[in-house]
Amino acid sequence: MHLKKRVLVTGGSGFVGSHLCDRLLADGHDVLCVDNFFTGSKRNIVHLKDHPYFEVLRHDVTFPLYVQVDRIYNLACPASPIHYQNDPVQTTKVNVHGSINMLGLARRVNARILQASTSEIYGDPEVHPQTEDYWGNVNCVGPRSCYDEGKRCAETLFFDYHREHGLQIKVARIFNTYGPRMHVNDGRVVSNFVIQALKNQPITVYGDGSQTRSFCYVDDLVEGLVRLMESPAEITGPMNLGNPREFTILELAEKVIDLTGSRSPIRHEPLPVDDPRQRRPDIGLAESTLGWKPKISLEEGIKKTVEYFERLLGEDGC
Ligand code: NAD
Ligand code: UDP
Repeated sequence: MHLKKRVLVTGGSGFVGSHLCDRLLADGHDVLCVDNFFTGSKRNIVHLKDHPYFEVLRHDVTFPLYVQVDRIYNLACPASPIHYQNDPVQTTKVNVHGSINMLGLARRVNARILQASTSEIYGDPEVHPQTEDYWGNVNCVGPRSCYDEGKRCAETLFFDYHREHGLQIKVARIFNTYGPRMHVNDGRVVSNFVIQALKNQPITVYGDGSQTRSFCYVDDLVEGLVRLMESPAEITGPMNLGNPREFTILELAEKVIDLTGSRSPIRHEPLPVDDPRQRRPDIGLAESTLGWKPKISLEEGIKKTVEYFERLLGEDGC
């Protein structure tokens, strides 16, 4: 039995945030979702609108906020390369100013705060799989830098607030996560491939498709985030959360075609600048400290994602 807590989720109407709100409400908490709806959608949270312990506030976290809460999950930030590169200055701002505002709030109300950091901290990694003690290989002047350096600076801020003010922090380094409620125009690889396959359109593999990623289903990630938040105070992270099964992008394309029975051909397109060659989390730390590891296979997760997009595309008449 959990004690009811007042929990703020920034970016709560986004893909991960909306699943996290569901989970926190199911656990009996009082949830405040703060979002400016840049990439989030009311569709993701509409089913919660009559829940007595759910509230939504339209707010941009780059501006200060004062609310009395016990926990803050700081997820506000566009996560897809297309979206975060659309307004790169705002991306850096949401990570730096947004984090300062949320850290200031946590300090003022004595809340515990979790940062949704990212595997992009490691850039195009020279260490494989990536462990938390690897410092990364990040270009600071490329098109991905607003996100990568923004998230790196956010981690710095979290640890400085912890050292300087004794704030209780948790830093999760999230690896590629997918599932229902990704935006139709999100542009990330799993949703792109599933939508293309369902429409029998060409599957756009960037480059030769030999680059790798490791895909975590959203429910597994949410479980890891909640466990990290509620872990003993001395556990701060940074902690990798992701699925250690690694696939090439070409393998992913073939799997999606197979699971949807699609007639889509594969079309190769240019590889984006600074696209990491390989990525796979070492999750030893999460396993030993949180007793956490992902349970949902890529096949199972893709099937759930396909069901979601089938329904969505049917509703929208696309
Ligand atoms: P998303 O784009 O679906 O969600 C981000 C949410 O933040 C959206 O609801 C958006 O409207 C909101 N937002 C953006 N700017 C804001 C602002 N200034 N003020 C208030 N709200 C704002 O992305 P997601 O996949 O759900 O990612 C959630 C978090 O997890 C992000 O911080 C992301 O960096 C991190 N993350 C996600 C992944 C992944 O694979 N999904 C991987 C690594 C890290
Ligand atoms: N990718 C692809 N086709 C797409 C979208 C992405 O081949 O339609 C590739 C992309 O180049 C990268 C990988 O898939 O190598 C993962 O891309 P995504 O944008 O999902 O996340 P990233 O891990 O790069 O942030």
